[in-house]
Amino acid sequence: MIFRVAVDAPLPGLFDYLPVASRTAYTPAPGMRVLVPLGRSQRMGMIVELAGRTDQAPDRLKPIDSLLDQTPLLSPSDLELILWAARYYKHPPGEALFSALPVRLRRPSPPLEDGEPGWRLTPEGRRGIACLTRAPKQALVARLLLDSSIGLSTSELRLRLGDCRGALGALATRGLAEPCRIASATPQSARAPFKSGPGLNDDQRHAVDSVREALGGFRAFLLDGVTGSGKTEVYIQLLRTLLASGRQALLLVPEIGLTPQLQRRLADRLDFPTVALHSALSAGDRERAWRCAAAGDAALVLGTRSAVFVPLPRLGLILVDEEHDLSFKQQDGFRYSARDLAVRRAQQAGCPVVLGSATPALETLHNARMGRYRRLELPVRAGGALPPELLTLDIRAQPLRAGLSPVLLRMMREQLANANQVLLFLNRRGFAPVLTCHLCGWVGECPHCDARLTLHLAANRLWCHHCGLIRSVPGNCPECKGSDLRPLGRGTERLEAELRQLFPDTRLVRIDRDSTRRKGELERLLEAARRGEIPLLLGTQMLAKGHHFPGVTLVGILDLDQGLYGADFRAPERMAQLVVQVAGRAGRAQRPGRVVLQTRHPDHPLLVTLQQQGYATFADAALEERRQAGLPPFSYQALMRADSSEQETAKQFLHRAAHEANACARKGVNILGPIPAPMEVRAGRYRAHLLVQSNLRPPLTVFLDAWLTRVRALRGVARVRWSLDVDPQEML
Ligand code: ADP
Ligand code: ZN
Ligand code: ZN
Repeated sequence: MIFRVAVDAPLPGLFDYLPVASRTAYTPAPGMRVLVPLGRSQRMGMIVELAGRTDQAPDRLKPIDSLLDQTPLLSPSDLELILWAARYYKHPPGEALFSALPVRLRRPSPPLEDGEPGWRLTPEGRRGIACLTRAPKQALVARLLLDSSIGLSTSELRLRLGDCRGALGALATRGLAEPCRIASATPQSARAPFKSGPGLNDDQRHAVDSVREALGGFRAFLLDGVTGSGKTEVYIQLLRTLLASGRQALLLVPEIGLTPQLQRRLADRLDFPTVALHSALSAGDRERAWRCAAAGDAALVLGTRSAVFVPLPRLGLILVDEEHDLSFKQQDGFRYSARDLAVRRAQQAGCPVVLGSATPALETLHNARMGRYRRLELPVRAGGALPPELLTLDIRAQPLRAGLSPVLLRMMREQLANANQVLLFLNRRGFAPVLTCHLCGWVGECPHCDARLTLHLAANRLWCHHCGLIRSVPGNCPECKGSDLRPLGRGTERLEAELRQLFPDTRLVRIDRDSTRRKGELERLLEAARRGEIPLLLGTQMLAKGHHFPGVTLVGILDLDQGLYGADFRAPERMAQLVVQVAGRAGRAQRPGRVVLQTRHPDHPLLVTLQQQGYATFADAALEERRQAGLPPFSYQALMRADSSEQETAKQFLHRAAHEANACARKGVNILGPIPAPMEVRAGRYRAHLLVQSNLRPPLTVFLDAWLTRVRALRGVARVRWSLDVDPQEML
């Protein structure tokens, strides 16, 4: 018998091993972790399959050193999904498998035991409780334990009887009680009675019915609903149907910032055990939630990107909210798209998948047009709220105060005077993006990156947002020793200070990564903003996502022009999504909202389309541009990135890689580059790119396998850091 093992190492392919030499109490099976010899070292691995034969020479086969699990951590279908993803994204299978496990299990530690520590009576204890008359405390403990068939947790015993460790020890010594594990209480026990939701409108009902009819088989849907159209209500109704049938569901969301609010809403409406899986949890809580899902105890898993891999034995529905969001794409290591894998997983599990968004990704819209996804539309806001009105404001030659044009300032004052809320959006944190010397023109630059240092005034630091370098702010110009250093441009920190001067009597909060570093701070600020306590809100894209501020009637977008002319061909798409998402925060209740977009390019065709005809028409126009240029989704890309500490090494490596590529290129596969990365030096490393593009997916996939084999065999390849990104989302 041969065990095929995916070893946790940057190596392609699987490795064959013989059974464990010593006798083991458990039978090795796929999905269990093992320790195996590899070269002269020992590695962790996971058994992937059992085989009857091997291509390895018999004298080179070695036995598995030891088995780490008693039961499989992953089921055959979990393994299949992750290994499929590893092949698709050209990532080493062992690394892919281990990155899908909770962190503690990536090391040779045993799985956490389920449940909390507790105590129960032994069979003798159940019979012998009457003889405890001379030990009153022991009798008290025993009687309490007798009432509970499964025992009681240590914490509950302490709660009811105070410290009773002495009595428990005595009972254990007499063989009357024993320690055990008590399954964690399911969260719904301590919950308020759950609420009913609004009755669905016709569009929502149609969407719910369409997906319901598809339950039990694979089908992909695009739920294309404007902000506030009641997409979440659609999810809730679908979940009610599905969970009542005893199956499990997976709801993927972009960011943890969104989960507490959504979690509460789901808890209010769904009487099923739910677990959340995201990076803000402790490793232990994450692992417990993961096991709860894997054991089938959790009906609903609410999670961010990596939850797409969580084992769900009775999976019946996958929902991906804000499917256009970039955070579904893992940007380093195992570079997968959780959105795309969700579709693959639904196909494998034979269940529907719903991708929801007010601003669907162009890829997704294209899939809908091609008939691969069925499009369900929610064109109007639920509950009668009016759509926000989008105005572009030409700020060329306008006198700006705090970056705000006179028109926008007047509108702000009007809304604030009427006790409405105003939201300003500026997607740049810090005080100013540049610090410069007024005398000699010196500019604060990062010594390790092609980038300027951002001034953070409150912290009195110059900070590189790319490599994390932190410098104190110089008192004098490092070049000419002059004392006239000036901040140029504006980040949220500066805007906040300026607004406090312009609106001295108005409460305001800033929400960005710097102002919400403390745990719980983001949630607290968002809650206050939602309740309408704070008239003036300002922030970065943290404010743009999914939140619901019913009192906001005016949204000002200060500076998105770089999105119109960005180097990345996806820049206009991202800009439009951001505008529509930010706009969606306004006027969600009964008060109508207006959105003002300040720009120096009011005639830009895509901007005009977006403003006059909305996102759908914009997306059509943008897709047409992509089609003409032969760009995704009308072609398929893979990006090889390389970096090195010496200037030429990365580029030379990519030249050799390009040479190999041309040697094995197939018809229809184009090799473009190498070229320097948009930021050529970052964190002291020189970076370059090689882009591979094809009009068809299959030849690209075949080509990539052949090419990577050649690239791995190049001499000196170990001296450069390189990676391959299949379906790259950012050309950084
Ligand atoms: P989305 O997820 O599309 O942004 P939500 O589901 O959060 O929208 O709905 C926005 C608001 O409208 C919520 O306050 C929700 O309770 C309410 N709502 C949703 N559907 C309806 C409906 N059919 N009738 C009335 N109000 C609704
Ligand atoms: Zn100077
Ligand atoms: Zn830097």
